Amino acid sequence: MIRRIVPVFIVLLVVACSSDPDPVRSPTAGLVADSVPPTETAIPQFTHTLVPSLTASSPNPDISMGTLQPSSTPVAGVELCSPLVIHPLVELPEIIGDAYDPPRPGREERHHGIDFAYYHYQERDSMLGEPVQAILPGIVASVLNGQYPYGNMVIVETKESDLPIEAQEILKIPSGQSLYILYAHMDQPPQVALGEQVQSCQLLGEVGMSGNTDIPHLHVETRLGPENAVFESMRFYDTRATVAEMEAYVLWRTSGEFQHFDPMDLLLPDRITATPPGES
Ligand SMILES: [Zn+2]
Repeated sequence: MIRRIVPVFIVLLVVACSSDPDPVRSPTAGLVADSVPPTETAIPQFTHTLVPSLTASSPNPDISMGTLQPSSTPVAGVELCSPLVIHPLVELPEIIGDAYDPPRPGREERHHGIDFAYYHYQERDSMLGEPVQAILPGIVASVLNGQYPYGNMVIVETKESDLPIEAQEILKIPSGQSLYILYAHMDQPPQVALGEQVQSCQLLGEVGMSGNTDIPHLHVETRLGPENAVFESMRFYDTRATVAEMEAYVLWRTSGEFQHFDPMDLLLPDRITATPPGES
């Protein structure tokens, strides 16, 4: 029963995810239909017009400086958590609805992250409302409350010194850079604030379908980028988007400053060498 449903579901998900809108359209042309397929056209006019304040720390003035200091969490004992509370790390490959599909540099096309989703899985009927938790400790670098296309979203920055030893060896983060993890499409505005320190496994929200999606799922992106970045807002494909919001979106997605990689390389690196079921 489950295996007959999954292929249909994956097709739906591919056209629904946030990475799919047509970037050749004018950013002020209005919302792009969810069914618009990816194109191979980059966003020309914003790609190299970065706003300096977006790359440096420009914290919300309401946040006390005490919450913006780098984590002092010792490396030893740092826990790498599944982003989904009720799905342990080893279970994640079974609920990948749309895998990481990297675009060419500077392109908006394909899939910059990974989608965890299902329609009926084991005894569970729906993914809607499943608690989402932080994969690693860090500082909240962005909080969005429904801005298109990511919807209700959180980005957490983790310094290299706060990564588990195994992750440091895998990622080899260049000096002056950090790991950023994005969690999108949550049901309600995130439960954390910009500049807040979060711990591994700390609750961030619940799986939803905010932003550019018609199906409850968790979209996760992992990127390496300049440390201490703050995205006070980002929005695109929306008539309400300001220039600053569009520039922040482009900075994150296509500027090349924040290099994406397959989140599964962090979450389950051993999967590459694992023997597929049924083979010896
Ligand atoms: Zn996605």
